[in-house]
Amino acid sequence: TKYVLITGGVVSGLGKGVTASSVGVVLKACGLRVTCIKIDPYLNTDAGTMSPFEHGEVFVLDDGGEVDLDLGNYERFIDVTLTRDNNITTGKIYQSVIEKERKGDYLGKTVQVVPHVTDEIKQWIQSVSTVPVDGQTCPADVCVIELGGTVGDIESMPFIEALRQLSFSLGKENFCLIHVSLVPVLGVVGEQKTKPTQHSVRELRALGLTPDILACRSAQPLIGSVKEKLSQFCHVPVENILNIHDVPNIWHVPLILRNQKVHEAIIKQLNFAGWHHKMYI
Ligand code: ADP
Repeated sequence: TKYVLITGGVVSGLGKGVTASSVGVVLKACGLRVTCIKIDPYLNTDAGTMSPFEHGEVFVLDDGGEVDLDLGNYERFIDVTLTRDNNITTGKIYQSVIEKERKGDYLGKTVQVVPHVTDEIKQWIQSVSTVPVDGQTCPADVCVIELGGTVGDIESMPFIEALRQLSFSLGKENFCLIHVSLVPVLGVVGEQKTKPTQHSVRELRALGLTPDILACRSAQPLIGSVKEKLSQFCHVPVENILNIHDVPNIWHVPLILRNQKVHEAIIKQLNFAGWHHKMYI
């Protein structure tokens, strides 16, 4: 299984969930089998006890797991049946580490965030990504991982570190990072501003992760010179600068991404030979 990681920068609520689901749809339409993981860096074990006013609806999975509503998006977009383990929270990770510590699994060692919590995160991701979710028996080709929150949050640091280690050990051909960012428009001239994206990419790099693809959210489609500027300053090839502008209905997003050839960028990065020709949407 190869991995596509979706991170977000600048502000929360940018549409990482919609981007992750849409990338999943487009990859599935290329004939690849897709699974998904949502990481929520909060201490609740699951979303079951969280107020829907604060957090949006709780989505209940077939196995009874009460999870983040993004998993509902994945199921509806990609047509898979996920399990509670596809939603990783800080609470679940710590609970598992503490249970292991009580059992004596760490053999007298000092139990620490690095390496014990980060190792637990890596193991969890790697084991759940091999569980088939589309009714077949062998593992999926691609696992889309969405990291909740914004890059730089204190809460998400252990996950960022675990994902950095994972990307390093798996290598470039097995790990593709899509960073979702915001391009706001300021002033009466209506200029599209790239600086927030530049800063969030810099923050990501400082943590050891390099974006392969940028998905820029904006009110209106990005103009060409803005894409070039982003490419130059963020060190991402211009064909990998994608734009998701505001749409009246989120079901447009997979088509927006397909039109900008997100699948070609991912397939090239992950070196899936022979998948270029099939496309069902
Ligand atoms: P995040 O996962 O980053 O918190 P979500 O994927 O939950 O964000 O999206 C936040 C909200 O923005 C949702 O209500 C979603 O429907 C909306 N949204 C996402 N992408 C777009 C878009 N391109 N155009 C309009 N609304 C969008």
